[in-house]
Amino acid sequence: MQELTHYINGEHVKGTSGRFADVYNPATGEVQAKCPLAGADEMARAVEVAAAAQPAWGAVNPQRRARVMMKFVDLLNRDMDKLAEALSREHGKTFPDAKGDVQRGLEVVEYCIGAPQLLKGEFTDSAGPGIDMYSMRQPLGVTAGITPFNFPAMIPMWMFAPAIACGNAFILKPSERDPSVPLMLAELMEEAGLPKGILQVVNGDKEAVDAILDHPVIQSIGFVGSTPIAEYIYGRGCSNGKRVQCFGGAKNHMIIMPDADMDQAADALIGAGYGAAGERCMAISVAVPVGDETADRLIEKLVPRIEALKVGPYTAGDDVDYGPVVTAAAKEKILGLVQSGVDQGAELVVDGRDFSLQGYEDGFFVGPHLFDRVTPDMDIYKQEIFGPVLSTVRAASYEEAVGLAMDHEYGNGTAIFTRDGDAARDFANRINIGMIGINVPIPVPLAYHTFGGWKKSAFGDLNQHGPDAFKFYTRTKTVTSRWPSGIKEGGEFNFKAMD
Ligand code: NAD
Repeated sequence: MQELTHYINGEHVKGTSGRFADVYNPATGEVQAKCPLAGADEMARAVEVAAAAQPAWGAVNPQRRARVMMKFVDLLNRDMDKLAEALSREHGKTFPDAKGDVQRGLEVVEYCIGAPQLLKGEFTDSAGPGIDMYSMRQPLGVTAGITPFNFPAMIPMWMFAPAIACGNAFILKPSERDPSVPLMLAELMEEAGLPKGILQVVNGDKEAVDAILDHPVIQSIGFVGSTPIAEYIYGRGCSNGKRVQCFGGAKNHMIIMPDADMDQAADALIGAGYGAAGERCMAISVAVPVGDETADRLIEKLVPRIEALKVGPYTAGDDVDYGPVVTAAAKEKILGLVQSGVDQGAELVVDGRDFSLQGYEDGFFVGPHLFDRVTPDMDIYKQEIFGPVLSTVRAASYEEAVGLAMDHEYGNGTAIFTRDGDAARDFANRINIGMIGINVPIPVPLAYHTFGGWKKSAFGDLNQHGPDAFKFYTRTKTVTSRWPSGIKEGGEFNFKAMD
């Protein structure tokens, strides 16, 4: 049994709290490692190290900091297979999908190579007689991030790459369910030339998170995970005076108009609904066909595609469409919600409840499910299932379909499939959701745009990665200067406007 560590001050450090979490191989159901769960004293040690290391790193010029990112990109590419294998082993997602997880983080690191350009301030020459005004973007100091299990490479990189490129020290508290890849990333950053103490990994659960929330030296907190925890962290972090951004759960709707290419829409729903076993915050979990005829055509196309899905372990290579879910508890929750859908009157068109994989009977595999005639009062509609379960809600009109997505408490992503530009344009303009796909099922913005939902899917005012990240991880300082003649010619007592 492997005992995992923290990564503090450039070293693997054993946990001292005596508390551990089991890390499973979701394909076999076996416990493969123990993850240490830090107490407040272990977090405090990491903060102390970070606070000591950060001023020197903040003083390194942005171009040199960017060179560390350049080298890190090379190392990620060098170790891509190794990282993806470790990721699949703990998370369960397929090997190509695990590479995608690393790749989408790597792209944010590439964006951060532009730090010298992105950190340039503003300057006004002669804002008044002999007066210049300029603003600088300065690092915050010690920053921290708390990440979910479902993207153990991408989301940590979304946070620590911009934080560090801006000159901050960063403490990562990854998910205790798949902590190995974050530890590997911290090692690679140091191999790329990052000084010790600038990126540290402290593993843990609520106790470690609370230690972050209450530590007076930590200036900012990034969080990605479920909505109840996002709300908790946002509230407590803000009331402690920190800068906080929290990204939560989702229930992403895809509207299928009668004029849509039905094969294209069905293919899109298969990938977006069942890829990664539905464990993506940008998964489509609700299909909203407009009109009964559209719904019937869609279901007819979906059923054979769903029945042909190949579910298996990542070791089966390209032969697998999706793997197990992350834990036995996740499986139980998903199957419980499926049962509630049946009990509350939804039509279970494809029933994956009896799915079992020969040789992997103890793995956390969940067969694919398709519901039809789901209504907004049902639990399977209201709650995020986070599993391979697609719900179909039939809408009588475009307006009804848009209203469903608008009224849902979550607002992460949504999509419309249509050939009609007018409907697509109206949808993109009116909808109260952060990320929109037009004939694109999983509209995850690229690194140089920003990522973030609306409503209960995000708390805070800046998005992740892209230009927003450089705002989140810096403070603005504005200098008004007058040279060379100044107060020596006499004091100024009035509060003056520039003219
Ligand atoms: P989670 O909320 O259970 O855990 C996220 C993090 O919070 C982990 O590091 C965990 O250790 C910590 N945590 C858990 N319980 C806590 C508590 N009581 N107090 C303090 N910290 C606690 O989420 P998860 O299951 O790891 O991830 C899945 C969720 O994340 C889904 O809801 C998914 O939609 C969401 N997600 C959102 C985005 C986004 O960008 N909006 C991206 C990925 C995942």
